[in-house]
Amino acid sequence: MHDDATNRPVADHAAAVAELVGPALLRAATGPTAVTLAALLADARAGAVLAPRVLVRDATAAVDLPGFDNSQMDGYAVRCDDLADAAPGDPVELPVVAPVPAGTTPPPLPRGAAAPVMTGAPMPDGADAVVKIEDADPPAFPELGTAATVRFTMPVAGGTFVRSAGSDVAAGDVVVPARTPLGPAQLGVLVAAGVAQVETAGPPHVLLISTGSELVPAGRPLGAAQLYDANGAALTAALAQAGARVSHRVVADDSAALRAVLAEAPDDVALVVTSGGVSAGAYEVVRQTLTDAWFGHVAVQPGGPQGLGTITVGTAAGNREVPLVAFPGNPVSALVSVELFLRPVLAEITGATPTHRSRGRAPLAEAVDSPRHLHQVRRGRRDADGRVEMVGGPGSHLLAHLAAATLLVHVPPGVTHLDEGDDVDYWEIR
Ligand code: AMP
Ligand code: MG
Repeated sequence: MHDDATNRPVADHAAAVAELVGPALLRAATGPTAVTLAALLADARAGAVLAPRVLVRDATAAVDLPGFDNSQMDGYAVRCDDLADAAPGDPVELPVVAPVPAGTTPPPLPRGAAAPVMTGAPMPDGADAVVKIEDADPPAFPELGTAATVRFTMPVAGGTFVRSAGSDVAAGDVVVPARTPLGPAQLGVLVAAGVAQVETAGPPHVLLISTGSELVPAGRPLGAAQLYDANGAALTAALAQAGARVSHRVVADDSAALRAVLAEAPDDVALVVTSGGVSAGAYEVVRQTLTDAWFGHVAVQPGGPQGLGTITVGTAAGNREVPLVAFPGNPVSALVSVELFLRPVLAEITGATPTHRSRGRAPLAEAVDSPRHLHQVRRGRRDADGRVEMVGGPGSHLLAHLAAATLLVHVPPGVTHLDEGDDVDYWEIR
């Protein structure tokens, strides 16, 4: 067992995966993915659950928001200089000029006058503050067409109740940054800011490769020393839950076979994920074949042996570079690896929710031991009292126990023992 302090910390490896995979998925998503906002809204109106979509690139505002200085209140547009000497016992009285309804362009405000202005209507040129109608005397607008005056009993600061042009977002500024999922507020502001079309990331195409000469596809008879390809099913589902489209292949522990599968990768593959063949043993096909990638040990149990890098897929005529994320073959290791390293960045790019598992902290129902230098991830569930009990031992082959668990229980590096009753962090996996 690798229980030494030289392993790569979990957070570092997660960051390395995110830095490599996130931008690569966004690059792969450019091109034919542009959609009009009208099309997104048509989908929504048709009753489709708004497909999770994130922006591939920053969207910039075409117009200022607000587009012009306007009133935040129903009230009087004034020049604050005109009200400088107003006091309760010594009001300033101003003639009332024509009112300004929303959707009209008012004439400039003469000096020493007040213009009734409605919420959202443009400020007349020269006016620099709004006194809300309740604070005017009388506190109601005069009948249209009557000659009237209004009294003010207090000064008003410049800018009061004025929503100035560009104060939400200015034309040319980023209104919704890349990687933001498009929900109601984002769609609303894109339309308000005059953006008509955006580039969104569709589900990335992931090529999932189960490696192992012992593997047999589901449904075939098992020979001696053979086992069914559990990872093909489990990782397909995990990737799909994180918003990916998946193509799956099984290859023997044979470099030529692995190379052939990569050469025949579908054209639009954006990411290769492998299981198995990354440890320090003798038949480690992924590690021994894809020598440009990093292979090493992360300070986690299960899921210690990991690989990460950029590999070439396709034939010489049309090859491309795509990121490789290589997981160990033990089914629990592979699934825990997805949770720790790949799911967050994948879900962020696809807009799949939740991006992160919901987390909690509760007392242990039993004592737990853990290797000193490793972040141990155990499988657990809440007992009748809400305490966290283990489901099975730490072994990374215990897939049935993972299937029976509802929690991933985290024991951080440096902690070798927790007692019954000690609090422990967990992620909900169901
Ligand atoms: P490896 O990482 O290739 O050394 O595999 C570690 C362990 O996981 C071995 O016991 C393998 O037989 C097992 N294993 C590898 N791939 C799979 C798979 N796709 N499904 C089930 N078990 C696997
Ligand atoms: Mg293997």
